[in-house]
Amino acid sequence: QVVTRFAPSPTGFLHIGGARTALFNWLYARGRGGKFLLRIEDTDRARSTPEATEAILKGLDWLGLDHDGEVVSQFDRADRHAEVAHALLAKGAAYKCFSTQEEIEAFREAARADGRSTLFQSPWRDADPATQPDAPYVVRLKTPKDGETTINDEVQGKVVIRNDQLDDMVLLRSDGTPVYMLAVVVDDHDMGVTHVIRGDDHLNNAARQMGIYTAMAWDLPTYAHIPLIHGPDGKKLSKRHGALGADEYQKMGYPAAGMRNYLARLGWSHGDDEFFTDAQAKEWFDLNGIGKSPARFDFKKLENLCGQHIAVAEDAALLQEIEEFLAASGGIALTQAQRDGLGRGMYCLKERAKSFPELLEKGHFILTETPVEADEKAAKALDAVSRGILGKLTPHLHNASWTREELEAAMTRFCDEQGTKFGKLAAPMRAALAGRAVTPSVYDMMLVLGRDESLARLSQAAE
Ligand code: GLU
Repeated sequence: QVVTRFAPSPTGFLHIGGARTALFNWLYARGRGGKFLLRIEDTDRARSTPEATEAILKGLDWLGLDHDGEVVSQFDRADRHAEVAHALLAKGAAYKCFSTQEEIEAFREAARADGRSTLFQSPWRDADPATQPDAPYVVRLKTPKDGETTINDEVQGKVVIRNDQLDDMVLLRSDGTPVYMLAVVVDDHDMGVTHVIRGDDHLNNAARQMGIYTAMAWDLPTYAHIPLIHGPDGKKLSKRHGALGADEYQKMGYPAAGMRNYLARLGWSHGDDEFFTDAQAKEWFDLNGIGKSPARFDFKKLENLCGQHIAVAEDAALLQEIEEFLAASGGIALTQAQRDGLGRGMYCLKERAKSFPELLEKGHFILTETPVEADEKAAKALDAVSRGILGKLTPHLHNASWTREELEAAMTRFCDEQGTKFGKLAAPMRAALAGRAVTPSVYDMMLVLGRDESLARLSQAAE
């Protein structure tokens, strides 16, 4: 069974690169009936905060990336990590190193002076245990001196590192605490992780981590180190480019489905497919489709996909996500009337809206109250002549039955009678019904508002 994991360090918000890593792991597992686990790598006590953990969990929740099982805290497992270090000691795959910091420095200086490699060679590696002093020590892994370590990476291909370029890394510090590199391997092994999909900034770590797997005779996971995300200019992703927390995207009002679609496409492709559903992404996602070069973040593409997802979303689900957006972005709650109105109008609001704020701007006619206040642009359409025409229109519509066909027919008749064009009437009607110059069609607005509300607004503007 496939088991993937997302292993963020809780030192800040869930940034966009982390969100994509989580998504790739989630898609890979979900598409294969596997498990997607979550581990918080909180061993760096100085930099880890509960707020950051909270923010990461919230971000994942917003993106809909549900994980299996309990959230694992790496720090809580320190005893187990130390246990493995001791098991390696017992096997002779690790050793106690009593060299002091000064001795290590002296070694490096001498090596530098002689033009030799400055990788520390501990004199304790092959020392007779009987000669060990009663002094503080670190536990080091006995890394093979010759040969090479080959990472068969699903994205990067074969990556070969000469073993003489790896030092005998520390597993346990002199205070007995495990190092991060050991913790990752022990946790991945114990959690049964089969596929490690993560940023390629961890590629070098993989060679060292493999040494621990080998020493413990544990099965290696499959590695996939994914390239970082760059800005549209090919440079390192900056804030301006979109290097923001997931919560910022939520507050900007992008739908989670659009975000997932966009993030999936960021560095992974499936033919020419740009727009796809979650079900398709789960079915299609594989490691072969991940590109070797850094993906470029592109706001336009994100918005375009978000617009498509909004357009096809189911109305009730969309409304619920919008309410969550309003709560998250400004603690705003809808009244029951507004909720009902948006529900009735969703069919026309969701067309061509790239984000929730855009959709809600189109829905302003629902959210605003009678008497409608026209903004500056809309007010210009309500000159004396237009108001006069609106005044005549109201009684005319009064008797129409409130369906699209009837309203259209009534408007056509009215325009014929008045010798005017519908185009001339549209702007004052928009102003009257919505108080805005840009709105959904006047028919959609009248149908969503209903007869009483529509006539009240039209006659109010005519006064
Ligand atoms: N905690 C690491 C990070 O946030 C991830 C380590 C891993 O995936 O192995 O970059």
